[in-house]
Amino acid sequence: MRMYDIIKKKRDGHALSKEEIEFFVSGYTTGDIPDYQASALLMAIYFNGMDKDETVFLTSAMANSGDVVDLSSINGSTVDKHSTGGVGDKTTLIVAPIVAALGCKVAKMSGRGLGHTGGTIDKLEAINGFKVEISNDAFFKQVNDIGLCVIGQSGNLTPADKKLYALRDVTATVENISLIASSIMSKKLAGGSQNIVLDVKCGNGAFMKTPQDAKNLARAMVDIGNAAGRKTTALITNMNIPLGYNIGNSLEVIEAVKILNGQACDDLYEVCVMLCSYMYSSCTGKSIDECKVAVEDVINNGKALEKLKQMVEMQGGDVKLIDNPELFKKSEINFDIICEDDGYISYMNSEKIGIASVVLGAGREKKGDPIDYSAGIVLKRKTGDFVKQGEVLATLYTSSHEKAQNAKNIFMQALKFSSTPPTKEPLIYEVVQ
Ligand code: URA
Repeated sequence: MRMYDIIKKKRDGHALSKEEIEFFVSGYTTGDIPDYQASALLMAIYFNGMDKDETVFLTSAMANSGDVVDLSSINGSTVDKHSTGGVGDKTTLIVAPIVAALGCKVAKMSGRGLGHTGGTIDKLEAINGFKVEISNDAFFKQVNDIGLCVIGQSGNLTPADKKLYALRDVTATVENISLIASSIMSKKLAGGSQNIVLDVKCGNGAFMKTPQDAKNLARAMVDIGNAAGRKTTALITNMNIPLGYNIGNSLEVIEAVKILNGQACDDLYEVCVMLCSYMYSSCTGKSIDECKVAVEDVINNGKALEKLKQMVEMQGGDVKLIDNPELFKKSEINFDIICEDDGYISYMNSEKIGIASVVLGAGREKKGDPIDYSAGIVLKRKTGDFVKQGEVLATLYTSSHEKAQNAKNIFMQALKFSSTPPTKEPLIYEVVQ
């Protein structure tokens, strides 16, 4: 088999066979196929697409390119959740303990922040002492003992995706449904869980800007998961507005604790309850309505918060911070953004708000940059709210006045105001199964 022929076949619009796709993925992973040939194939895929079978073959080849987690030693039904990335998205910190409190087993590998979007691992590291790297034996033992463990991705999980993602990033070939779906799902399949619930974000702060694109991505990922024998469901959720009110690492842990304490009943709460209901339903076969009741019960009776505390304690984190979030280290500067005129907030650009939080220190400008865990934004008002001149729109938390000023400028560009209320958008567009 020759890489040249594979590129030519895809360039001319034909479907590749399983063997051709496996030849490409293994050859590129070992380094036998050079970047220039892989780039040419990616661009041919970008223009000509891949059909359902090709996408399934590509995902499976990438999932098997490195370590594959074997969860057969876990007693019980395993479930994973993945978000395609958004702003203020702290759902894992909330849904993982909830479904673990209901008896599901969550053996989860999460990622760090990427661009304007945050990552669960950075948020967990905002809790003093929390270890995101533990041995395989400790990982499995913790999941069997308390039903829940969240760690960073192991070094050799899906090496093909690591190389291909880096190449796509610099060859303008990220935005292709088959490539995105296979990249995400290869990691989920290698992660080993039997049930997978995907939160496909849709809107100005997400990869997928329109409900139709989000639906196509959701369909592709659900088909891949189901073809691999994993029960897979996708919820398409709104990212035209940041999720919840807090953006930034310790600020998001604080908000997650608030939800688990039953102290908030907003968009974040609603999305989390629905994600949990689908996760619990996948594991048990119970109806979504029944699951919703059970989910709200473990929030209200404190069992879900207790589960988060157990995980934090077992992974070396300071549980006092969960008991009393006031103890999180405070940022040096709190800067209020004041509303200049009366009116409705008619639009929020979540991506810009995410960028403002990175500028404050909550994310990385470049690979390896340190994170200021206390930095970020607390929104006081969101799209649809009527605001009066002089009211606080948001508070910025950071370490310097210069960062606060830069972030304020970006934040203000993200907002539009009008004299009439905007049309309310759905929070959950659709469920794809
Ligand atoms: N996230 C991934 O892991 N891969 C993509 O291609 C896009 C988002």
